[in-house]
Amino acid sequence: MPRFLDMERQSRSLIRASRKPAASSAGEGESGSAAETEGSGARYGLFTAPREGMSKMINRLREIVEASGTVRSQTRVESLARTPDGRFTLRVCPQDAAATDEQFDAVVVALRTHHAAELLGGETASKQEASIPNVERLTELLRSIEYSSAAIVVSGHRLENVKHPLKAFGLVIPHTEGRRILAVSFTSRKFPGRAPEGRVMLRTFIGGALQPELLQQTDDELFQVVRQELASILGVSGEPDFERIVRYNNAMPQYHLGHLDRVSAIESLVAGVPGLELVGNAYRGVGLPDCIRYAEASANRLMESLAQTESV
Ligand SMILES: Cc1cc2nc3c(=O)[nH]c(=O)nc-3n(C[C@H](O)[C@H](O)[C@H](O)COP(=O)(O)OP(=O)(O)OC[C@H]3O[C@@H](n4cnc5c(N)ncnc54)[C@H](O)[C@@H]3O)c2cc1C
Repeated sequence: MPRFLDMERQSRSLIRASRKPAASSAGEGESGSAAETEGSGARYGLFTAPREGMSKMINRLREIVEASGTVRSQTRVESLARTPDGRFTLRVCPQDAAATDEQFDAVVVALRTHHAAELLGGETASKQEASIPNVERLTELLRSIEYSSAAIVVSGHRLENVKHPLKAFGLVIPHTEGRRILAVSFTSRKFPGRAPEGRVMLRTFIGGALQPELLQQTDDELFQVVRQELASILGVSGEPDFERIVRYNNAMPQYHLGHLDRVSAIESLVAGVPGLELVGNAYRGVGLPDCIRYAEASANRLMESLAQTESV
């Protein structure tokens, strides 16, 4: 987070930096600057989301790909092996149908690293071990990246039932506070159109690397945890308009000390396999902009490598 480093260097503390007036250019506002108005709508240049939600991005991407290719959803790739001519055989298993082996010139593995390791080091692949050089070292490195889980409770409330003025984008809670939630995002304060007039939508984060045991609880138990914490921290009372829970199991890679060295080692092993790329949030950034930047670089490398193969 180089932005935070800069803020700390320039202002000596993050809180001091966040209290400074927002930078003049739109989109460069400091995170955490106080909201100016009560009305709904985005007031923090740092946060951006499609008006109709994140699925808009995926649906648009799908449309673009389908203009010249095929997208198969609900389809599991069960194994990956390299053929002697440098192509790839994938065992593709659609939901409710038999698996088939199919050949591809190039493959981008966009899976969590433990799944990528299963695919590259799986039974079918190990027969082809000689064709993916150092596959054992590669899968060992991939498996060494730890993941944590989280759950999100999304809830809707009447503003009259919330004592706190919610003049912020949310809150993040340090572990030392001994709370049972990690953070709350005031979603309808960050983005326009997420809640009707007089209502607010909150997203409460639970679990993470430090409180994994909480995720053993049932959905109803977690709703209770969230209600108690929101009441205590924000003065939220009464029945929420709605509550939903989404669980993200083993979804957040943990960038432990030495992460960049591990990633460099993975990248150099993958570079030795023309036509293969690994992308996703486990390598050089968890946020979507980082994932997209990393994936674009991989796609460009792949296109270059395919062009070279064709010209040979
Ligand atoms: C709770 C939470 C909140 C977040 N909030 C933000 C935010 O506000 N802003 C931001 O920028 N980022 C945010 N992130 C981070 C960002 O959303 C993730 O890092 C990103 O979505 C990860 O994308 P990915 O494609 O790398 O991985 P994933 O989304 O994990 O995708 C991997 C996919 O592979 C599929 N798969 C697995 N095995 C197979 C197989 N054998 N065959 C076929 N498919 C398979 C899985 O089903 C899955 O869909 C958040 C993440 C979480 C968990």
